[in-house]
Amino acid sequence: MQTGPFTESLAKKLVAKYPLTGPYYTSYPSVGQWDGQFKNESFTSALDDLFAADGNVPLSLYLHYPFCPELCTYCSCHVIISNDQDRMDHFLSYIFKEIDILRDYLNSKSITPNIKEIHLGGGSPSVISREGFERLVAKLGTLVDVKTLKHFAIEVDVRTVDKEMMEFYHDQGINRVSFGVQDFNPDVQEAVNRVQPVEMVEKVIPLNVRNRFKSINFDILWGLPFQTRETFRETINTLKRIAPDRVTLLHYGHFPDIFKHQVKINESDIPSEFERFMFNVEAISDLESSGYEWIGLDHIAKKNDEMVGWKNEHRLNRGFIGYTCEYANLIGLGPSALSSFGKYFGQNTYGLSDYYAAIDKGIFPTFRGYECSSDILLRSKVISELINYSFLNFRDIENNFEVDFHNYFDRELGFMDELIEDGLVELTESSIKVTTMGRYFVRHICMIFDIFLQRKSAHKPTSRRDSKLVMS
Ligand code: SF4
Repeated sequence: MQTGPFTESLAKKLVAKYPLTGPYYTSYPSVGQWDGQFKNESFTSALDDLFAADGNVPLSLYLHYPFCPELCTYCSCHVIISNDQDRMDHFLSYIFKEIDILRDYLNSKSITPNIKEIHLGGGSPSVISREGFERLVAKLGTLVDVKTLKHFAIEVDVRTVDKEMMEFYHDQGINRVSFGVQDFNPDVQEAVNRVQPVEMVEKVIPLNVRNRFKSINFDILWGLPFQTRETFRETINTLKRIAPDRVTLLHYGHFPDIFKHQVKINESDIPSEFERFMFNVEAISDLESSGYEWIGLDHIAKKNDEMVGWKNEHRLNRGFIGYTCEYANLIGLGPSALSSFGKYFGQNTYGLSDYYAAIDKGIFPTFRGYECSSDILLRSKVISELINYSFLNFRDIENNFEVDFHNYFDRELGFMDELIEDGLVELTESSIKVTTMGRYFVRHICMIFDIFLQRKSAHKPTSRRDSKLVMS
């Protein structure tokens, strides 16, 4: 049987060879490689560098609101389960102070920040009360007039809002909404402690409400307990009926050693790796033949969505908040929030007590970060081209980084043989093209250019003839 570009037997063979684990490359290098010595001072001088190069550089802000009323058992976010309004109000007062710290820094440099985009994520920022939300928007207004933002997005837990709240968000300037849907099947929802019937979703976004927003996104998770091909097909059919503008198809990663609460999910209830892979293949094929276009890796958008234009115009940027257009410089606010600007990455501290202590000192609560070398920037560009566009033009890299691609990546190009034999890439003298099948394994193609994985590899080939790279 043929599903998308695969027969069942070919898909089985490829999944056995190229497992579904591995980096997602929302950043390169991944956070695990970042430097724990990179604190407030490093973060501040990184910002100095950014604004010294261009005081008017376009910026995005990400604000992490960690509170959720209930724990979904699959959760891998930095989350605090609480319904304590006083605690949440107290937290919000610290977010406001962090915004003040950023604003004071910018004022000290005489910078009027050119903020184009704000993303409210979590946790569940949709549990913030109306009054708290108005105060938050007013505080953000000390940095930027939110009505001028190109993108002002919020992640919404549908169980925490109603239609009127959605209208309120719109009135506050929100123009994009992302719903954590995950799956519409009642048994799956029960198994992950996130019961939200489809009627609940439909009720909060009737046509007259959803038309107020530039885009509605649904997050869908594949690999949850009790999912089968049949139930997942039904979920995708329901999704197509509601027809969000964008869909993010994410793979559930089961890591109970790291996320202790995931022990509540029985491993035996999780579909096999091959079945999980096929859920994704079927869903993407189905959506592609139903008016959607695959943007890259895990993002899909309606053909008339702005995101498709960004892709066609080569303006996509993949980062911590998914795909955006060219606003690559992101400053994170709130505990665990990630920043990425210029050649730097940063992450705020996780725990509330450390976060509050840093804010009380009037400093950025940076817990770790990274300064990319020119080699890392080059590799990052290669990885993002492959993920975003399924194509790498060597000449572009040579022009931007003043290297001879073949010399620089002689070793990596040697690792392509198996991927070529398996039909995942086409290699010419001047380019790498990821094939339709290869799109599903693009992370494995990127891993070849990942110097950190090469360092971890037990076997280190040195030429094209010695081409068996052991991926860990
Ligand atoms: S709503 Fe999201 S952040 Fe909150 S517990 Fe569920 S998965 Fe985690």
